[in-house]
Amino acid sequence: MLNNNICDICNSENIDTIFRYNNTLYYTKCLCCGFIKKNPNIVTIDYSIEYHTKEKLYYSKSLANNYFKRLAKKINPNQYCLEIGGSFGFFSKYLQEYKQCIVRNIEPSIFAASYANSQNIRTFNNIYDLDIKLFDYIFLFHVVEHIKAADIKNFINNAMALLKQGGVCYIFTPNANSFSLKLLGKYYTWLAPDEHTNFLSSNSLNYLVDNNEITLSILEEIPAFIHYPMPSFLSFIRKKLFKHKVNDFIELSENTNVKPKLKKIKLILVLKNIFSIFVKLERLLFYPIYRFYNMFSSHKDELVIELKNVKNNLKIK
Ligand SMILES: [Zn+2]
Repeated sequence: MLNNNICDICNSENIDTIFRYNNTLYYTKCLCCGFIKKNPNIVTIDYSIEYHTKEKLYYSKSLANNYFKRLAKKINPNQYCLEIGGSFGFFSKYLQEYKQCIVRNIEPSIFAASYANSQNIRTFNNIYDLDIKLFDYIFLFHVVEHIKAADIKNFINNAMALLKQGGVCYIFTPNANSFSLKLLGKYYTWLAPDEHTNFLSSNSLNYLVDNNEITLSILEEIPAFIHYPMPSFLSFIRKKLFKHKVNDFIELSENTNVKPKLKKIKLILVLKNIFSIFVKLERLLFYPIYRFYNMFSSHKDELVIELKNVKNNLKIK
């Protein structure tokens, strides 16, 4: 099925629908550059208030730790660093503590930004508020896939304009060519249609930075489960059988006129804990299988991209 769309990245008209998610959402792929996008390409989350919560603190720290371990050797000490979408500022904190870098963080979430500022990580809500104009390093960890497809080109090029000559931008983002995405289609864990609007391929990046002032290298492809939880079949079945989350149930009981049945709530919480033990066991059991599968899958889930600013005459649009 062909659409009359034009690819936001390479301007090709050769766009194909690859699968339908539900009655209103479908996904298309550009047959020229491999860019995949959600249609309609709308952002449904208000990132200033909805995305980051207290519950995400621990998880966010462990992700930052993973990213830092992966990049630490590439980062020189005492440099100016900017993280865009750096949430609570944990990665910036590592740069500050272990590399003695001067760090800035851009984070639209009011909650996450105020947490980062309280931890002595200078955080701004948008790029135009920055008090430093040029950086040696810029980091974009899983940010690009949250941007509207039509805005990606400007977004990346505006970020690149903040790099000094010889400065480097690191981007981590899901891979449009991922074998798992091809295999699982609408059931792919990283599809996350509420959050992710697009998936870049290594080829589409060539069009994004079609500019001889920037050099592009794909450093590696990483399986998703290295950084993010592996898919759980038990959780999938649970969601199919019981649509409500445990917290929703407790809220429901508290909001009705009937007195909350404490015994029943306690029982449900015990069952929830037992279930989460089973999910952990399931992940342990499947871990070697995922390892094995990823040894042979042609393209992995996550792209690690390095963009270098060769000359410094890039301009913010
Ligand atoms: Zn394209």
